Amino acid sequence: MHVEGLDYQSGKPIRLGIKDGKIADVVYLLKAKKYLPVIAPGLVDLQVNGYGGVDFNTTQLMASDVNRVVQMLAKQGVTTFFPTLITNTDDSIRKALATIVLACKTYPEAASAIGGIHLEGPFISKEDGARGAHDPQLVQKPDWELFQQWQTVAEEKIKIITLSPEWTGSDEFIARCTKSGVVVSIGHTAATPEQIDRAVKAGGRLSTHLGNGTHLMLPRHPNYIWEQLAQDKLWTSVIADGFHLPDSFLKIIFKVKSETAILISDCTYFAGLNPGTYNSHIGGEVMLSPEGRLSLANQPNLLAGSAQSLLWCVNQVVRKNLLSLKDAWNKASLKPLEVLTGKSQSVFKAGEPANLVLFEQKQTEINILQTILSGEIVYLHSDD
Ligand SMILES: [Zn+2]
Repeated sequence: MHVEGLDYQSGKPIRLGIKDGKIADVVYLLKAKKYLPVIAPGLVDLQVNGYGGVDFNTTQLMASDVNRVVQMLAKQGVTTFFPTLITNTDDSIRKALATIVLACKTYPEAASAIGGIHLEGPFISKEDGARGAHDPQLVQKPDWELFQQWQTVAEEKIKIITLSPEWTGSDEFIARCTKSGVVVSIGHTAATPEQIDRAVKAGGRLSTHLGNGTHLMLPRHPNYIWEQLAQDKLWTSVIADGFHLPDSFLKIIFKVKSETAILISDCTYFAGLNPGTYNSHIGGEVMLSPEGRLSLANQPNLLAGSAQSLLWCVNQVVRKNLLSLKDAWNKASLKPLEVLTGKSQSVFKAGEPANLVLFEQKQTEINILQTILSGEIVYLHSDD
């Protein structure tokens, strides 16, 4: 099989041969058909708590639910994602890890699309504001023994861990994670700038949704936001859904971290649902507005997580002229892979998995036409 499209970076017509799930050859065409869609690598989302009514953090989660998320995200141009498990009981974490592993064994598409598991907690801050919606009763200090047990249940699929380096023993824990190939991300933290600095020296590589999961009030300086911005070795993930961060904050992130900022959705299971009021197990009733904003029903000024896919975030930053389409797309595809592998990623390379998206740009909106996961068409747009 082969696909033709306009390279999303250069705009030049290109044909990619696909064989055995991988890109077999890459040909730049001199002459192209009159109409060609844009072709780009599939989106990569490092933080997905759930989607379309499926919550990775409930004990009722089934392997088939996990696979449904794979299909729903393919429709949004996402070909790789990291199911994210937040602070929970030991038993619930083990159950969720086992279900995700089972999904990968049962469904080839899940095995292709799930890049790994992101464990966000429980080794985070207990402080209000910093902990976000995580249960303070279940938050604890880093425990290598426990983490190893979870990693065994997960069959080594935990690839990212979000923690706060404010706990004693964090440096050693971070060094051990890093040595074992797990990316350590700093988030939900009340750490001092010195603790952040030590965490980076121990191997910490990423900041989790910088600017969110933070105290409402901070000393003007020094504080952990400035410190993370100033650490050149730290990559930064941001929730660019248009509700979680003001444009000025994003603008600064994209300048300071021009090569090391990535977009994440951090979407909850309310993503992909119709506007309305829903019951949430984390904090009573929530309201999803027609504009796509998810808030507590009785306190609409308080966000209740994100309800948008990574594609929405790309659309947001492009529409607001915060990034070019090419840069936004890279920060949501190649760059997340780079932070994970530590290697810079080249696009459309023979031998790489054929995870591709064909789309058209209608005014300021990207319209996904086709999604290819490991060489298989998993989503095809139809007009009806
Ligand atoms: Zn979080």
